[in-house]
Amino acid sequence: MAVGQTPNEATLQRAKRIHQLLGEYYGEPTWRNPLPPVDELISTILSQNTNDQNRDRAFTQLRQRFHSWEAVRDAPTEEVIEAIRSAGLARQKAPRIQHVLRAITDQRGQIELDFLRELPAERALQWLRQFNGVGPKTAAIVLLFSLEKPAFPVDTHILRVTKRLGLLPPSTTAEQAHTILAAAFEPAHYDTDHLNIIRLGREICQARKPKCVICPLQSECEFFQKNPTQPYNTLSRKNSSTD
Ligand code: SF4
Repeated sequence: MAVGQTPNEATLQRAKRIHQLLGEYYGEPTWRNPLPPVDELISTILSQNTNDQNRDRAFTQLRQRFHSWEAVRDAPTEEVIEAIRSAGLARQKAPRIQHVLRAITDQRGQIELDFLRELPAERALQWLRQFNGVGPKTAAIVLLFSLEKPAFPVDTHILRVTKRLGLLPPSTTAEQAHTILAAAFEPAHYDTDHLNIIRLGREICQARKPKCVICPLQSECEFFQKNPTQPYNTLSRKNSSTD
C-alpha cells in the first residue's frame, strides 16, 4: 500500500487478523488509570524519550511539588526542571509544559481540555497539535485514553512492527502512520491494538533481533515470509517459554 492511500480490502482483513491473533495471545490489555485530559497531556509530554517508570516518577514529583497546573505554569522554570528531572530532557520538557499550559490559558481562559469532548476527533487532534511539543502521538494518546475519542497513537514500537508486518510501506513516517493505521484498524479496537502491538514490540518484535520463532503473528508478517528462517510457532502464550 502506498503512503496516503486508503487501505485495500486485503490490508483491512490482515489488520483484523492481527487484532484477533494478538487478542488470543495477550488477552485484553488495560491502560493505566485514565487521567483527566490535562494530566494526560502533561504525562505524555513527560513520557517522550523515556520509559513508563521515569515518566510516572516525574509526574508524581511534579504533582507533589505544585498544588495545581496554574502553579506549574507560573513557577520559575528551574523549579519545574528540578521536579521532572527523572523523566530526562528536563530542560526541554519543562519550558514545553509551561508553554502549553500558558497557551491553553490564553485560548480558554483557564487550564482545561474537557471542551475537546464536544469536537469531532480530527478537530480535537488539530487543536492539540497547534502547540510546540505536541506531536501526533501525544495528541492521539490524549484523545484515545482520556477523551475516549477515536485516534491511533503510533510510537517507535508500533512504527517498526507494522512496517515489518507490511501494513506500512518502509518509507512511512510516524506522522503518516497515524493516518494509515487509523484507517486499517477498527476504531473500537484502537486501544487494544495500540497496547498489544507495543507489547509485542517490546517483548518479541524487538528492534535489533526480532524473536520470530515465538511470535504469534508469523502467518501475517511480510518480514517473516521473506525471511522464513524459523518454523511457524504453534505454541500459545500459556505454554511459551517466554513467560
Ligand atoms: S514474525 Fe518476526 S518480524 Fe514479524 S512481527 Fe513477529 S517478531 Fe516481528
